[in-house]
Amino acid sequence: MYNLQDKTYRNQPLRMCLETTEMMAKRIRSHLRVHNRTNAEMILHGGEPLLLGISAMKEWLDCVRNVFGEEIIPRFNIQSNGVLINDEWIEFLANEGVRIGISLDGPRWIHDKHRLTHGGKGSYDAVLRSIDLLRAHPRGDDIFSTVMGVVDLDLDPDEYWTHFKSLGVFGLDISLPHANYAHPPREGKWSYRDWLIRLFDLWFYDSDSHGFRYFENIIRTVCEYPLSSDNIGGKPVGVLVIETNGDYEGTDALKSTIEGMTKLDKNVFDNDIDELFQIPIVSFLQQLEAPVCDTCRSCKAYDACGGGYLPHRFSTDTIGDIQQGFINPSIYCDALFGLVQHAYSTLRLYLGSAA
Ligand code: SF4
Repeated sequence: MYNLQDKTYRNQPLRMCLETTEMMAKRIRSHLRVHNRTNAEMILHGGEPLLLGISAMKEWLDCVRNVFGEEIIPRFNIQSNGVLINDEWIEFLANEGVRIGISLDGPRWIHDKHRLTHGGKGSYDAVLRSIDLLRAHPRGDDIFSTVMGVVDLDLDPDEYWTHFKSLGVFGLDISLPHANYAHPPREGKWSYRDWLIRLFDLWFYDSDSHGFRYFENIIRTVCEYPLSSDNIGGKPVGVLVIETNGDYEGTDALKSTIEGMTKLDKNVFDNDIDELFQIPIVSFLQQLEAPVCDTCRSCKAYDACGGGYLPHRFSTDTIGDIQQGFINPSIYCDALFGLVQHAYSTLRLYLGSAA
């Protein structure tokens, strides 16, 4: 993520030490025990997880597995900028059963606008090289999950889709830029609504099969399929962020609201995970009792949309129907409404013609 208001991550240690890792794993284990669950989906992201290096990554994974024992089955994923991927990393991740997603926003002229190396150069070439390595390696398919990018309205959806297809990759995901009423999304030559609908059609009617998480989730919600996602659908989710110092935090996207919004003042050394549910923002984020505005409640798309992603509903001011806090439609309401309606009518047409 980039361009966020909250810079508190700069105060965090660069890596999670093993003492914190062990305590974190114990808290997760006891939380799952209480709730009779045996699976833990763990995603390493933020900064660049591969900077840890292979031997420290191995220690981290072993530490978590040792605490979980046979009781908890972890599934590890890494979201990476891909710059450091090489054959050694691919072998290692495949041996460890760790899947990796690569962040890529589109063709070079879009990707290099936002994603720079520490030397200030665009990372597009390095990312493409990593994707090629993953595709060429005999074990690459075992670990390569998706290419994930952030929507940029200066890029035509047709160019985005053509570029994605040229990568020869199966899975894709996108996210809307983190924005809210206090920090509205940047405008471009497309509206978010038209951009998403055009890309949806390019994907939906493509003769090759591609996984596309964002649109698949829209279809699931339109079909009333149970879905646990924090960015669409309004159903309860089970996502928790644990920082390198062991602090529990609200989702990273809250960093797009105001400085310190993610801070919960709870830590793996002092607090069980279940204690967090006493904190309103956690309860909201888990969508257990999310604040929903009247506009959303009376909206035709509410069952599928759920009011959108909570951080995207934030406002610092009351302006007309928009309230301070989170009791608002998503700042992307127009796009979400249009996409849900479009997905619904596309599916009806498709299923009708297939019958
Ligand atoms: S489309 Fe807009 S009004 Fe309808 S539920 Fe989603 S955010 Fe709320």
